[in-house]
Amino acid sequence: MKFDLQRIQQLESLEDEILVERIQKIRESQGKNLCILAHLYQRKKITELADFVGDSFGLSQSAARSSGKYIVFAGVRFMAESAAILCRSSQEVLHPDPEAGCPMADMASYSEVRRAWEYLKGAHPPVPVTYMNSTADIKAFCGEFGGTICTSSNALKTFEWAFEKSSRVFFLPDEHLGRNTALKYGVDPEDIAVWDPEKADGGEPENYESAKVILWRGYCPVHQKFTVRDIEQVRKFYPGAIVIVHPECPTEVVQAADEVGSTDFIRKFVAQKTKPGDKIFIGTEINLVQNLATEYPDRMITKLHRSLCLTMYQITLGRLLYTLENLETFERVQVSTDVQRYAKVALDRMLSLVI
Ligand code: SF4
Repeated sequence: MKFDLQRIQQLESLEDEILVERIQKIRESQGKNLCILAHLYQRKKITELADFVGDSFGLSQSAARSSGKYIVFAGVRFMAESAAILCRSSQEVLHPDPEAGCPMADMASYSEVRRAWEYLKGAHPPVPVTYMNSTADIKAFCGEFGGTICTSSNALKTFEWAFEKSSRVFFLPDEHLGRNTALKYGVDPEDIAVWDPEKADGGEPENYESAKVILWRGYCPVHQKFTVRDIEQVRKFYPGAIVIVHPECPTEVVQAADEVGSTDFIRKFVAQKTKPGDKIFIGTEINLVQNLATEYPDRMITKLHRSLCLTMYQITLGRLLYTLENLETFERVQVSTDVQRYAKVALDRMLSLVI
């Protein structure tokens, strides 16, 4: 089906209340046939309409368990692809804006990764581990070559698993999450090398053979923005405030914060470990911070720095309604059989590590 951009624009110009009402009507008429999944970085009006809200890991589990015929995924493309890999063949995954990709996932293309692998594998190949935030063919690459997938919630556990299989780990595509996890696992900073896909030899040819962890040079533009200076300002003007950041932030930021963890960790920390009157500065995507501030008005919850994920923001109420109005004909998220087979191997390995 071709997108009717005029119709989408028309819907996007309507009041939120009207859009929400129309979406609710379709949800009611579809009943269990329809399952809406929304990532925590989606705007509040969208998370309120979802059957499940979570981080990429939680949502991949929800997709695997969902019984709806139509799974509409309000998130970025790699998440919808993961749902398409995990769901049953009778289910169909729809992504309201197929153009909404994750810039970090797109920093590691299959051809670049294969080129790096040929260079790095040597006599003792490392275990390839990719972050959930990667394209389906990079997940498939890890499945095919004995590796797995991790999320920011289970990255440490995945390193433990990988180091039981080999003395070396090749981590994709987020350099920061990889370094933060390697250091937490106890790897010496000297034993970490970085592969830069823009350089023919990766940039550190002298280090790859001895490195315990080789990191892909990729980053999340949202989390890369946080700096140690942001934290110093909080310490100066709000003594006693708690600073929590996501592990996709640069290592020096993670080390300067009070707490570090996945989006799910951040949510749980605020709910269970903070109390009325606390001042909490959060270094992650702005929609999650704003949603938490609304949920806990008795504490001061605010951003460490304003940082919006533009591609997550491409999913609007208008686009969601357009998808639901066209459930029968809307473009399905398709993953080729080969990619699906190996990506599922890697995803199943990941799920078996945590279930
Ligand atoms: S927040 Fe970062 S990692 Fe998450 S979808 Fe946006 S760009 Fe990708």
